[in-house]
Amino acid sequence: MNKPLKQHLIDPEICIRCYTCEMTCPVEAITHDDNNVVVDAEKCDFCMDCIPVCPTGSIDEWRVVETPYSLDEQFEWQELPAQADIGESSGVEALDDAMAALLAEAHAGAGGKSKAPASAAKPSVNLYNLGKPATARVTGNFRLTSGESGSDVRHIILDFGAQPFPVLEGQSIGIIPPGTDKDGKAHLPRLYSVSSPRDGERPNFNNLSLTVKREEQGLCSNYVCDLKIGDEIKVTGPFGATFLMPEDPSARLLMVCTGTGSAPFRAFTMRRQRSKAGGSGDLTMFFGARTPDSLPYFGPLGKVPEKLLKKHLVFSRQPGQPKEYVQHRMMAEQDAVADLLADPRTHIYICGLRGMEQGVEEAFRSISESTGQAWEATRDAMRDEGRYHVETY
Ligand code: NAP
Repeated sequence: MNKPLKQHLIDPEICIRCYTCEMTCPVEAITHDDNNVVVDAEKCDFCMDCIPVCPTGSIDEWRVVETPYSLDEQFEWQELPAQADIGESSGVEALDDAMAALLAEAHAGAGGKSKAPASAAKPSVNLYNLGKPATARVTGNFRLTSGESGSDVRHIILDFGAQPFPVLEGQSIGIIPPGTDKDGKAHLPRLYSVSSPRDGERPNFNNLSLTVKREEQGLCSNYVCDLKIGDEIKVTGPFGATFLMPEDPSARLLMVCTGTGSAPFRAFTMRRQRSKAGGSGDLTMFFGARTPDSLPYFGPLGKVPEKLLKKHLVFSRQPGQPKEYVQHRMMAEQDAVADLLADPRTHIYICGLRGMEQGVEEAFRSISESTGQAWEATRDAMRDEGRYHVETY
């Protein structure tokens, strides 16, 4: 009989196929096929470099096994197998102390394993993959930011025609840029958050929207931002099973974002706006951009009533104004944030630049401590209850 060993695995239901782990792994233990991203047990040396870069926590899965799951087995999975009962060694507790310490270090910061809100609808994931992508037709491409701002952010509308493509607010899709890389391999899909609600950008049409910023050297962002009406593109997904909205209408949402990280929050807000029953729980947003004309949806956001969405639009490069980041405004609004933190109906979502995580964490810590609460305990309890979500790149 083999000696039980720990195997590092990836949860295929939660993984959003951004391939960041694969690009980060120093020993090339992470690989993918058309369906899943997987870990080669023979190569993985538990260095943990992949843990902090994963935006969803799907990378943080471990099983004690007698025989490691092969790559082919992992490629076939729709969901992760449960921990098999192999006697005393079973369970994640079997992780030794050194590994637990490495994991704790890798989880330092706001990231970590997240859970879907208890009342969230069940998402569909990975319906279309690299080998069998969906074809979407472009039905809209609108510039959201002014030419003078130097920022080119686009609102892209995609129609899926007769192909079923169900998405929930907070999910992402992959877009496969045409052509091949320097090794002649097809490009990997690039991931974009959906910015429309589940019933479509245009209600009851089989369409969705994305919020895409043109990056100077961006292979896919330039491709997407240059798309014309009628163009057809290859799409994978949908992906993401945790960064989802609670269905509970009394849930209060605290949304913190920078730049195009606002995409899922546009979807959340529209969902609440369109839901017949409305929501008794409030929506609060801290949204950071350089200037008003580089803040995606600045105009339309101004028209959303404060009663539905409390907006804190924060600018870092407004001429004549001090630099302000979202975390600074959270501190300035600490009574309102403390009220939200104290309410068990509150769900926190953080989306956008990876760099903002630390500052936002510090703001939460300071606000919690001012009310005599320990932030880490509050955050971990919220994460366990599916009420704390971070998706940053
Ligand atoms: P951006 O224009 O580069 O930045 C937006 C604002 O954030 C600017 O005002 C910037 O200020 C500020 N900022 C910079 N560092 C900060 C920090 N440490 N703390 C707080 N604020 C900070 O944003 P962007 O180019 O749209 O980028 C958005 C990011 O979100 C991208 O990295 C994108 O990949 C990511 N994203 C993630 C998701 C997702 O996770 N689902 C979805 C969409 C986008 P200064 O430049 O003046 O310093």
